[in-house]
Amino acid sequence: MKAIQLNSRPVGVPQLSDFKLVTEEQPKIKAGEMLLKASYLSVDPYLRGRMMEGKSYIAPFELNETMSSGMIAEVVESNLEGFSKGDFVSGMLEWKEYQASKGEELMKVDGQRAPLSSYLGVLGMTGLTAYLGLTEIGKPKAGETVVVSGAAGAVGSVVGQIAKALGCRVVGIAGSDEKVEELKSNYGFDAGINYKTTENMTKAIAEACPEGVDVYFDNVGGEISDGVMMNVNQFARVIVCGAISMYNATSMPMGPRLDSILIKNSVLKQGFIVFNYAEKYGEAMSHIAKWLQEGKLKSTETIVEGFENTPQAFIDLFEGKNKGKMIVKI
Ligand code: NDP
Repeated sequence: MKAIQLNSRPVGVPQLSDFKLVTEEQPKIKAGEMLLKASYLSVDPYLRGRMMEGKSYIAPFELNETMSSGMIAEVVESNLEGFSKGDFVSGMLEWKEYQASKGEELMKVDGQRAPLSSYLGVLGMTGLTAYLGLTEIGKPKAGETVVVSGAAGAVGSVVGQIAKALGCRVVGIAGSDEKVEELKSNYGFDAGINYKTTENMTKAIAEACPEGVDVYFDNVGGEISDGVMMNVNQFARVIVCGAISMYNATSMPMGPRLDSILIKNSVLKQGFIVFNYAEKYGEAMSHIAKWLQEGKLKSTETIVEGFENTPQAFIDLFEGKNKGKMIVKI
């Protein structure tokens, strides 16, 4: 069976050579264990940080270590009470076709209730991040203007739709005309901006947000965010959820200081990590499930077939090749 390890620490944009596909023997399970067969695997921008050395909110991968991320797996053999052959589980698992598990921190998921892949997307970390970041920090009120960057991606597309469900005016920023069109036609955004063809982001935001920006859900950082910040209203809230435009930077870019804008407008700008809100996951999921049922929330997935294509799927996140959640089907 195959596994994928970290071969080298990327410098700049990750390369296929930073990963290593290895063959290992299929594990045999002991008492108190079950054998899992990988079904779906989540590739996420934050894994770029884990490929680097250094302290973060989650430990880095070691060289020649099997990588891991959120996965859905099928129980194919079980010596573990509570888990039977044919069950599906979700949790942080290793990038291996088969693995033995004691079931720790795994949750059973029901493929009859929702497509299995959605537990990695809208019914998983993606949905939780969107809902909790927006409501806990952004606290949007009906009628306010919400701007979201990375808007056609997994988290961003859900953020925009939730903001619409809460009665806000929503403007999305994404990397192609096709994506911008879909923000409006598919997800009901009020306006969209293609950052790749926009020369002056400050002006583009001002035009798309005539009443200014009350909430900014930031997935990308950098110059796109500078343009949004130049348009914030008094008491605006800024959720710093991701900074993908800087994940491949070899040195931290130091841009113009925007502190005076924060002061002048009494803006709240707060970093967000979904794992710090675990006690609110239940509440978040009940809202998300309701909006899905009511048709107010659409979930989009880009499914790449084949375990060995996992590294390329991950790299493609930095090229914007995904629409919605990028998932590998194994
Ligand atoms: P996405 O599905 O949004 O995929 C990444 C997207 O980022 C791409 O589709 C691409 O879209 C865009 N992108 C890539 N490079 C750049 C760039 N240089 N500048 C601007 N946009 C770029 O990923 P997720 O929804 O999973 O994650 C979105 C963000 O949220 C990430 O920054 C991630 O790290 C963060 N995150 C944070 C969490 C937390 O708890 N803090 C939890 C989950 C995610 P395009 O075509 O528009 O360029």
